[in-house]
Amino acid sequence: MKPIEDFDTLIDLLLTYNTEEKCSQYIAFKRWGEKPVCPHCDKDEKVYRFSDNIYFKCGVCRKKFTVRVGTIFQDSKIPLTKWFAAIYLFACRSKGVSSNQLAKDIKITQKSAWHMLHRLRFSMAHPKYDEPLSGIVEVDETYVGGLDKNKHQQNKTGKQGRGTVKSPVLAMVQRGGKVKTVQLDNVKAHALTTVVFNGVMANSRVITDSFNAYWMLRAKFKHETVNHSKNEFVRGDVHTNSVEGYFSILKRNIYGIYHFASKKHLTPYLEEVAYRFNNRQLTKSERFNMLINQSDAGILTYSELTGVK
Ligand SMILES: [Zn+2]
Repeated sequence: MKPIEDFDTLIDLLLTYNTEEKCSQYIAFKRWGEKPVCPHCDKDEKVYRFSDNIYFKCGVCRKKFTVRVGTIFQDSKIPLTKWFAAIYLFACRSKGVSSNQLAKDIKITQKSAWHMLHRLRFSMAHPKYDEPLSGIVEVDETYVGGLDKNKHQQNKTGKQGRGTVKSPVLAMVQRGGKVKTVQLDNVKAHALTTVVFNGVMANSRVITDSFNAYWMLRAKFKHETVNHSKNEFVRGDVHTNSVEGYFSILKRNIYGIYHFASKKHLTPYLEEVAYRFNNRQLTKSERFNMLINQSDAGILTYSELTGVK
């Protein structure tokens, strides 16, 4: 079965991939091409396909498997048709989808939806986009997290709720290019400098505000600053408008869709928003296929995610 390479709408996708069999065949084609590979022993010479088009058997190690083995779909009881809908909503909607909304849209529990979305974030983060930024790179830090809903609660009860602590986040935006974001423990010079040294090519022009923790950047970059405290925001092409624009996208996502992100789970959300921003030029089917192609990143169990056995 040849994969559909182009679709525009959720309904096109759902009408085409309307059975476990068709979805399995699609993932198998994307993962292995015409020749399935046994995920247990990595051999491909004697793999037999059962007539249901879902199960395979390896003649070398004699084990049975489905295309889910070794992917984010392994050990999930959710039908692949629902996974396909989830991938579409996650990858193709400009702001993604919350676990509450996904649960309602595809009729599963909120807990399953939450786990699915974390698995999708996990596969999205592999391979990581590690090529350094270059050219003109704007760098800034902000605080993300906390919870509007909790804040009201806090005012009422005076108690500190879960997720009320904000985390510092550093963003680096290449003008006209990609973004990288990193959750930090603190905003001291050492922490900020290490992240920028790792994320940006040497000798790039790096623009920040005049926050003094950035002073070490000049060791590796052409470091220029705008002095916001003196009401200086733009000096020629020296400004931090792109990174500030990105922070407003990030905050709209985190507060608008997820309502909050706890400190523990903030990094996957940061990566999700960055991933969507960095792939904003791709079509819907390209974004969908990218996630299918990365679905063999491995498995992420519920206990790994939550620490609950
Ligand atoms: Zn095998």
